[in-house]
Amino acid sequence: MKKHNFSAGPAILPAPVLKEAGKAAANYQGMGLSLLELSHRGPEFTAIIEEANALMKEIIGLPDDYHVLWLSGGASTQFFMAPMNLLNSDETAAYVDSGTWANKAIKEAKHFGNVAVLASSKEQNYTFIPKGYKIPKDAKYLHLTSNNTIFGTQLHKFPKSPAPLVCDMSSDFLSRPFDPKPFGLIYAGAQKNLGPAGTTVVIVREDMLGSVQRQLPSMVDYRTFVKENSLYNTPPVFPIYVSLLTLRWIKKNGGLKGMQRRNKAKAAILYQEIDRNPLFKGTTAVEDRSLMNVCFVMEEKYAALEKEFLKETEANGMVGLKGHRSVGGFRASIYNAMPKSSVQALVDLMADFARRKA
Ligand SMILES: *Cc1c(COP(=O)(O)O)cnc(C)c1O
Repeated sequence: MKKHNFSAGPAILPAPVLKEAGKAAANYQGMGLSLLELSHRGPEFTAIIEEANALMKEIIGLPDDYHVLWLSGGASTQFFMAPMNLLNSDETAAYVDSGTWANKAIKEAKHFGNVAVLASSKEQNYTFIPKGYKIPKDAKYLHLTSNNTIFGTQLHKFPKSPAPLVCDMSSDFLSRPFDPKPFGLIYAGAQKNLGPAGTTVVIVREDMLGSVQRQLPSMVDYRTFVKENSLYNTPPVFPIYVSLLTLRWIKKNGGLKGMQRRNKAKAAILYQEIDRNPLFKGTTAVEDRSLMNVCFVMEEKYAALEKEFLKETEANGMVGLKGHRSVGGFRASIYNAMPKSSVQALVDLMADFARRKA
């Protein structure tokens, strides 16, 4: 039986995507060859990457001056690659410290220029998203993390900024519509909400390129991948193909508006249960609650029941619900591909557990 996969990442993928990916791994389009053994320079993969780029632009509504790149090295590589490509050593980039990943991005940016950390919620264990900070006029860019995977907070409104936005969207990429125009650069590791581990999507606006003095090795220069359509060297062929399958699935299911509608409905029933249930409580500011990663803990009085509840989730075919060690308790990652029925199963178990234990 297929399990209910609440893992934070690598994470759940749509069932039809997995089925199609399996077929392609065995025998791609009846060619008598696996997609895993096809040249990245052949007509089959050329068609795949061209369709993936076009669908990405269509689904987000990207203007013509944005490039879609498929890189490797994870979102963590973008922590240094972004400042390396965008920030001169005498310039300042602004960062908001909203979680562990944001904090890591700050650490790497310091290798390349001045970093102004405008606000941080670290002292409060990242239980909310800092707001109301002043963005310096001379900032080269403002770096944001749209969804804090570990702590379960999400930026529901992007701040107005005089500087272009650079955003780590790894864990809520393509989960809702957004206006791309304030963004100079967007990056997202595929394994949270788009595909398997192994590729990272970078969306970069033309005017962001070529503004640093330093010499860049080819493999870390965005312009290399723009010029060669992500085919300067061998790209992560299979992760890109599976991401294409997910893009097709998103389009078929109402695009970003459709994703948002589903995601809101799923998160609503789970947060409602957390707030209603006497055993559980949320861990973040209500206004910043993530629709992707729902963090909750046991009320102190019932803390001893934590292990028992986790065991029951496993006995009911639910995996990946143990909270990150820096928050504890539970984390239900309910990305695009998570069906409402799986969230309902968790909600039903929480209610039943409370009836038996409270
Ligand atoms: C998972 C995650 C990362 C790290 O991604 P890797 O692909 O493992 O490097 C960075 N940022 C966010 C928001 C994440 O959720």
